[in-house]
Amino acid sequence: MTTQRIKDALKVIGTDKLKDIIIKSEKDNREYGLKFCNNGHITTTDTCVGSGCMLHIEPCKDKKTIGSFHTHPRGDPTEENPYYNAISDTDIKHSIYSNEEFHCIGVIQDEKPTIKCYLPYYGVKKDVASNFLESMSNYEKKSHEYNPTGRYDELQKLSHEKSEELGNLFTKYNTAYKKFVDASEQAAIKLRNLPNQGADFIMEL
Ligand SMILES: [Zn+2]
Repeated sequence: MTTQRIKDALKVIGTDKLKDIIIKSEKDNREYGLKFCNNGHITTTDTCVGSGCMLHIEPCKDKKTIGSFHTHPRGDPTEENPYYNAISDTDIKHSIYSNEEFHCIGVIQDEKPTIKCYLPYYGVKKDVASNFLESMSNYEKKSHEYNPTGRYDELQKLSHEKSEELGNLFTKYNTAYKKFVDASEQAAIKLRNLPNQGADFIMEL
């Protein structure tokens, strides 16, 4: 079912265009990326350009973000690059944080433009991912409730109980975040050593 969802999303861009983007990315040695949005039918955001541009890409606004696609140029061909053809730990973190249903990368593999898609939680344990998301949301909610302006001087005025409560929530969030970062790094290493770099869906163009 999710594989069909991935196929439907990629179809919105079209095979020829996907191929062009991957080839262009390799040639320019630049990253290209976009997000897939859905509110009844699938659309895409504009294409972002540059290293890590997915992190700053405009969100789907009033639509639901369902997934993303970005390229991994190989870089200097004279240098060994064991990372380019698999999902990275940054990709994993960003995808889980953005609540994506899938995450696709485009690479040149064996001379062919190839798309590899991955499904959450990318080998990160579900409880590690959800603890992170939950503790972040708990801290942010309380923090906003107790200090809507976000100003430091307002924070100083909070009662002892409230500031202690916020401190505890922050500690929980911070601990969960560290675990999540570690787990994402481990997951990325594990995936790239698997056949097809552990992709759940792979398509040669
Ligand atoms: Zn990436």
